[in-house]
This record gives sequence, structure tokens and C-alpha cells, in this order.
Amino acid sequence: MIDYHIHTSLCRHARGCLEEYVEVARQKGLKEIGFADHFPLDLLGFTPPSQVTMDPGELPGYIRQVRELAAGSKDLKIKLGIEVDYIPGTEDRVKEMLDIYPFDYVIGSIHFMDEWDFTHPKYAVDYAGKDMGELYGIYFDLVEQACGSGLFDIMGHIDVIKKFGYYPSKEMEPLWEMAARALKNSGTCLELNTAGKDAPAGEFYPGLRFLEICRREGVHVTMGSDAHAPERVGRHFKEGIAALLKAGYSEQVSFDRRNRSFVPLRVE
Ligand code: ZN
Ligand code: FE
Ligand code: FE
Ligand code: ZN
Repeated sequence: MIDYHIHTSLCRHARGCLEEYVEVARQKGLKEIGFADHFPLDLLGFTPPSQVTMDPGELPGYIRQVRELAAGSKDLKIKLGIEVDYIPGTEDRVKEMLDIYPFDYVIGSIHFMDEWDFTHPKYAVDYAGKDMGELYGIYFDLVEQACGSGLFDIMGHIDVIKKFGYYPSKEMEPLWEMAARALKNSGTCLELNTAGKDAPAGEFYPGLRFLEICRREGVHVTMGSDAHAPERVGRHFKEGIAALLKAGYSEQVSFDRRNRSFVPLRVE
């Protein structure tokens, strides 16, 4: 089992230090993990209403600590990842920043529509009165643009717009088809993010049908718990692997300095 989406207390909305996450990963028998804490938004020239990322000055320390832990770990492989917000207009800046650091992989995620942090429980009230069809359209356009930017190895929680259980009245399949093609055409991996199970949406990001469409398109996949607390590492992974197998996947991707290799999926 490989968990590539792990946060730390650096992002101000998770708890636990790197070592605590590593300890749980060992206890749960994971073979490989990767930290993917939130890239400093200030470096993209964006300061959100609530701080949700590390400070710019903390980035070098984060990188050094993860690399030190990785170098000292024998049984468990530890990778250096990062979760970067996709914000239209910041592409050049992101590219410059990512080229500086030795990341094993980069997860691209959408948490903002303009200033609105629509994944943050504090701002979930703002879904009220919105046209969900329109909102899903805007969100999936951003997903398509994020893939097209070619900046990311993995698209994070691809349908997180469903997090609080709001859905459009019209069919979502055309949006999923579009997203799957965008992933395929750009060579971006899909992430099976198991955190959705514990959100009001109550299912993985993405759900089974969306997963099947990605599989049919030949999109590669990684797994992530999006742990914001140490005990959440590898959460729902048995069920996650079962869902991947059901959708027709037989392997997941492992990253090393942004190069991929494939690891067979099996229920352990
Ligand atoms: Zn977070
Ligand atoms: Fe995220
Ligand atoms: Fe995350
Ligand atoms: Zn995330």
C-alpha cells in the first residue's frame, strides 16, 4: 500500500509532525508513503482569508526534514511530494518554483474558486443559493486547465466539489468524461483520495463510475488518504484498493524524482 497524500501541522489545519505520520504508516504496514503538504500560497501571490499552507520560509525546512527521514528509513520508503493549488495565471510562477526543488511528485489541487476556499468547512455556508450546475461547470473547467498546464504529476481529489454533498441536478458523466480525457491527454495521474469517505459526500474522490471512466481512458492512478492527523494515514485503503480493482485497475504508480514506475495492486 502506498499513501501519497499526507499533511503535517505545518499547514496550520493538520496536527502531528512528520515522525508521527511515519510511525502510523509503519504500524499499518504501508510499504511507501509520501508527504504532500500544502505549498505556500504566498509564493503564488495569493493570501487566502484563512491560512491553509506553510509559510514561504518553512518550505526549505520541510524539504530537508522529509529528505532526512527518507534517507534514514529502510523498511518504509518515504517520498517528497507537495500539494500545489492550481490558480489560473500562476502557471509560470509554479513552474519556476517546482524546478528548484527535488520533489518526487507534485499533486495539483483545486481548493479555490476566485477567493472562495470551497473545501474549507468554515466557508461551506457559501454553497447556499448557488447554482450547482454552474458551479460544477466552473470547477471542472479548472480541472481541465490544471491538467492542461502540464505542471502536475497527479490531480488531487478530482471531484472534491462534491465534498459537502451538493450536487447538480443534471448528469455529471459528461464532466467526468471531459476530466478523464484531460488527464489522459496531459499524462496526469488520477488520485484515488480516500478522504471523501469521511466527508459529507461519503464516498471516495472520485466515486466508482468516475473511476471506471478514467480506467477506460487509460489514466494512471495513485492513492492518497489526505491525512491531516497521524491516525488517518492509509485510511480506508483496503476498500480503496478493492474499488480500484473493481474499476479494472491492476497497478498503481510510484514516483521517484518525478519519474513513474508501476506497482501491482493487491489486497493485503
Ligand atoms: Zn489540507
Ligand atoms: Fe487538497
Ligand atoms: Fe491534501
Ligand atoms: Zn488535499
